[in-house]
Amino acid sequence: MFGLIGHSTSFEEARAKARSLGFDEYADGDLDMWCAAPPQLVEKVTVTSRTGKTIEGAYIDSVFVPEMLRRFKTAKRKVLKAMELAQRSGIDITALGGFTSIIFEDMNLLREERVSAVQLNWERFTTGNTHTAWVICQQVERNASSLGIDLASAKVAVVGASGDIGSAVCRWLQRRGVGELLLVARRPQPLVDLQESLGEGRILDLEAALPEADVVVWVASLPQSLQIDTASLKRPCLMIDGGYPKNLDAKAAAEGVHVLKGGIVEFWQDIGWQMMEVAEMAVPQRQMFACFAEAMLLDFEDLHTNFSWGRNNITLAAMDRIGEASLRHGFEALGLQHAGAVSPALAAA
Ligand code: NDP
Repeated sequence: MFGLIGHSTSFEEARAKARSLGFDEYADGDLDMWCAAPPQLVEKVTVTSRTGKTIEGAYIDSVFVPEMLRRFKTAKRKVLKAMELAQRSGIDITALGGFTSIIFEDMNLLREERVSAVQLNWERFTTGNTHTAWVICQQVERNASSLGIDLASAKVAVVGASGDIGSAVCRWLQRRGVGELLLVARRPQPLVDLQESLGEGRILDLEAALPEADVVVWVASLPQSLQIDTASLKRPCLMIDGGYPKNLDAKAAAEGVHVLKGGIVEFWQDIGWQMMEVAEMAVPQRQMFACFAEAMLLDFEDLHTNFSWGRNNITLAAMDRIGEASLRHGFEALGLQHAGAVSPALAAA
């Protein structure tokens, strides 16, 4: 059985969802009340691979909202309690979605193995970052060529290059061969370390990198206040919005600038679940975050282990392995052709 731990994108949205489900007490409650609320196993689902194999899964809402990020103890408790619930529910492999994997890593929750009476077994959890990195690389490969960008000579900026997903994307792009890698993040030393391990790449700050880039891969959670001077961008320019939350559409909207939601996959058939509606997917019955799909893939493959864990450990071999499974079980990376797509079921109606 696979599991997904997620959360609403905002407090406002979480309250609206509570109202629609008939939980008026929560819908009217303030943030303090939500901070005290326990995680909920909100949905169970059955999923069938293109190979015919069927697995069962569950979605756990951590009842965390991004407005709690500054309340460190609350954020930490929300993630650990959701993991405890996943383990108590007998789930074999659970993906930490949205901010939950970042909270886990940044707050060093590896030290917090015991939650109430439950000893957490890390092997039952995955960040899903290996599949996310592979999907983002597929999105670069396929959509650059559809825009007439030749990757072999293109400059590709990776914003968040020194991070877990960013460093994996850089290694994959290096093996694939691109014109030049532009390495962007705030702290210089991790970028220097990455540059040394790659033996290539140019370190730049964001303002300098953007006007040079044919492709920009965003794999950092960016502040709402970030502004992009769209006039200075190359044309065409492909932007893969792989961070969370996905807020680039409005910031980079301009003729010749193509923004694609990064790290999103579409399944080969509809899944009878509600959970992706809250994640604002264009086709919520089929589309999902690649990190969630990783938990499904590990369950399809009977690989009940923490396939993606820790920071900057993602290997090219692991990306190839999860990518091959992704294609075989019926996932496809979201492409520019999917933008604004409607579900086939709706189109036929
Ligand atoms: P990490 O914390 O490992 O890496 C984050 C990277 O971003 C670091 O290189 C960091 O370096 C850099 N960074 C952070 N803030 C800024 C900034 N303001 N400007 C430039 N660089 C910045 O995170 P992950 O690799 O695990 O995740 C990366 C992003 O991908 C996150 O936003 C995460 O939520 C998202 N994600 C999306 C998924 C999906 O859509 N399917 C699935 C999983 C994750 P420094 O601190 O030095 O700036």
